[in-house]
Formats: sequence, C-alpha cells, structure tokens
Amino acid sequence: MSIAGQVIRCKAAVAWEAGKPLSVEEIEVAPPQKNEVRVKIHFTSLCHTDVYFWEAKGQNPLFPRILGHEAEGVVESVGEGVIDVQPGDHVLPIFTGECKECPHCLSEASNMCDLLRINTERGGMLHDGHTRFSKDGKPIYHFLGTSTFSEYTVVHVGQVAKINPEAPLDKVCVLSCGMSTGFGATVNVAKPKKGGSVAIFGLGAVGLAAAEGARVCEASRIIGIDLNPNRFEEAKKFGCTEFVNPKDHNKPVQEVIAEMTGGGVDCSIECTGSTQAMVSAFECVHDGWGVAVLVGVPSRDDSFKTHPIHFLNERTLRGTFFGNYKPRSDIPGVVEKYMKKELELDKFITHSVPLLDINKAFEYMLRGEGLRCMIRMDA
Ligand code: NAD
Ligand code: ZN
Repeated sequence: MSIAGQVIRCKAAVAWEAGKPLSVEEIEVAPPQKNEVRVKIHFTSLCHTDVYFWEAKGQNPLFPRILGHEAEGVVESVGEGVIDVQPGDHVLPIFTGECKECPHCLSEASNMCDLLRINTERGGMLHDGHTRFSKDGKPIYHFLGTSTFSEYTVVHVGQVAKINPEAPLDKVCVLSCGMSTGFGATVNVAKPKKGGSVAIFGLGAVGLAAAEGARVCEASRIIGIDLNPNRFEEAKKFGCTEFVNPKDHNKPVQEVIAEMTGGGVDCSIECTGSTQAMVSAFECVHDGWGVAVLVGVPSRDDSFKTHPIHFLNERTLRGTFFGNYKPRSDIPGVVEKYMKKELELDKFITHSVPLLDINKAFEYMLRGEGLRCMIRMDA
C-alpha cells in the first residue's frame, strides 16, 4: 500500500544536545512539498562534518537535529513539480545541490549553486522554512538539507543524484560525500600531472580518496601527512608512498616536505579541518607552479596567516566543496566509474553497525579508528 501523501512514523537517530549520544527513536516525517522528494534511506555513513556539527564546539549549535549527509536511498514519493525522479529511483542525497538554472550551475567552473549550495545553518526546508521532522509535534531540524540518520528523509530535488539502480547501495553510499570530495579535489581541482608529487594532509576517508585520485592521475610520489601514526599502514593500500608525522619533527612540516622534494611538492590537498595543516599545505607546494587545495571544514571563527610572498612566488591556493562535482550532472558518471572498476570504494568501508549502534560510529571516528563506518538502517 502506498504511503505517499501521509505522515510516516519511522526510526531516526536524533541529536538532542551537542556532544550527547544520539537517541534512536520513533519520529514523524511529513510528506514532501513542492520540489521535494521523500527518500527511504538504506545505508548511511558517518563523515567528520557530522561530528563537528554534533560537537558544535566551533560551529553554531542547532538542536534537536537529525544529522547525516553521506547516504544512499530509494525515492518513496515526490512532491509537486518534481519530474526528474520518481518513486523507486535509486538516489544519493548530496549536501550541496544543483538547481541547473543559476549562473553557477550554468558555468562549467563552479558547483556553488546559488539556490542550493551547502548551508550549515539552515534547519528547515527551502520551500517554506519549516521542518518535515517532528517528535510528538515538536519540530526537529534538518542538517545540510539531507538528514540521512533517519529511515525516511525529505530532500530538495536539486540535492539528489539519480544513479544506476544496479549499483550496490552499501558501497556507492560513500560517493555521496567523502569519496567524491577527496577524489574530485585531486582530479578536478589540484590536477597533478603524470609523474608529479602530491602531499595529502589528513589520511581519513576524504584524504585517502584524494590519494586515490593522485594514484589515478599517475602521480609518482604521494606523501601522506597525519598526526595519527596508525593511519600510515592503511594509507599504503591507497597508494601513499611516503609518510610524515608532524610530531616527529622539530620544524614545520612544510620545511620537512620541501627538503624531501627539492623545494616542494607539485600539489597538496588538505583534508583535516585544522588551520595549521592548511597553512602547511599551502607553504609546502613548490614555488613557480605549486597548487594547494583546501577541503577540510574550518571552525566558525577560524582564520589563518601566511606571508604574501608565498603567493608572489607563484603558488596557488584553492578550496573546494564536494570536489567541484556538480551533484546531479556528474555523480551518476562517478558511480559508473565504480561499476567499471576504475574507482575502488570497498576499501574505504572499514566498519558496519545497525542504526541502533550509531553512537559506535561516532566513537570510531573520534578515536581515529578505521575510515568509513556504514550504518545499516533496516538492521
Ligand atoms: P577523519 O577524521 O576521518 O580524517 C581526518 C584526519 O586528519 C585524521 O586522520 C586526523 O588524525 C588528521 N589530522 C587532524 N589534524 C591534523 C593536522 N594538523 N595535521 C595532519 N593531520 C591531521 O575526517 P574525514 O571524514 O576524512 O574528513 C576530513 C575533513 O574533510 C573534515 O574537516 C571534514 O569536515 C572535511 N570535509 C569537507 C568536505 C568538502 O566538501 N569540502 C566534504 C567532506 C568532508
Ligand atoms: Zn561529508
């Protein structure tokens, strides 16, 4: 029997307060409104961005909220005006959208859609500002327009990428954020040349996806930098050829890298969220041609300092959300890359828990253990 148009009662992991364990409970999910789709989530995984907004130490707190933005699901019903997807379609909800009409969407260079670009502060839906989630009538806020830690969620149609229904749900899930972000930061933004050298700051899933991108671009040296030495063994599987732990040196890591490479790397990708690492990532690229790309999400009040001479010496600093991919236009093709075995995803998924144990996924990430933890919604 169809449940379209009706309120659905289902399980969700609700963050009631900053830093307190999520609580898995029954909530209500309203039907999708104009230009919205309601999606049944099968698998979702935890990205560090969820953890920052849950901790809310350096970010504006907004609670109660349903976090989660890396996921895979099937469209259950669609609201008025939705023609691009229909019930039964397999989709990846994406934290930054694509309206396909604004100057950014029409530009080849940008994925910063005017209407649907990442917005970490918004707790309601674009259409009417209201939330589609509630618990006994009390509203629960959305996160990044995706809120995938719920069996059902409501997403703007511009924030879903329709993908090949044959793609395994529990694998391509990680393309909805982390893997596309890291991989795209390398192949779309840093663009290392064959034989070049690449430094990757932060060897979590995003950083290792950036390393995977460097491997595909046939970089000859891929230098992994992390404060957690446990990351180094794993990173070998992702093509990292050398490792540096900033804690092992009594000088800035950018100087260590410059010495290792005869003046600096051709490009670097920062995937930590630490401003210290951002400065190092910029200053460790070679003068004359080096390109540094920032990916890590900073805290609200962050700023960083570097001497302007580094720019004058012809270094380039860039930044990117979602690896510069346009979610609806580009992601179906990235899924096809995985289907054709041109891109490996399975090795990013190191843990798996049922929704009831979602707090374990947070513990793994806070301990720096493993890469992605898959959360099974129906288990
Ligand atoms: P993660 O926690 O799994 O990995 C981060 C790694 O960085 C850890 O191994 C940690 O030890 C290391 N690290 C922290 N500070 C460091 C420092 N100063 N020097 C060297 N290494 C350091 O996180 P993740 O899920 O891989 O996400 C990485 C970053 O990317 C986060 O900041 C996340 O919010 C951000 N992110 C950005 C986008 C985007 O579109 N720009 C998308 C997804 C995630
Ligand atoms: Zn993410």
